[in-house]
Amino acid sequence: MTPWREAEPGERCTCGRQAREVFVRADGDEIGYCGIPDGGAKSGPCPFCGLRRHSPGPCPRYTLRPPATRDDSRPNGG
Ligand SMILES: [Zn+2]
Ligand SMILES: [Zn+2]
Repeated sequence: MTPWREAEPGERCTCGRQAREVFVRADGDEIGYCGIPDGGAKSGPCPFCGLRRHSPGPCPRYTLRPPATRDDSRPNGG
């Protein structure tokens, strides 16, 4: 079984772009990848913490999906 899966809409690369693939690590962490190995072209600050871009590796605040929005959390009677 490949550790890669196709990304779903809304899942993000570590550079902030929409991810195309998601790499599932052995420890269960999921890291999105947009397919463009330029780290977001290092243009501007880190899209996740607003500080400088990081050396190799994702931002400590990186999340595959953006924080849940209120709009998205509807009671699901189930
Ligand atoms: Zn990317
Ligand atoms: Zn950051």
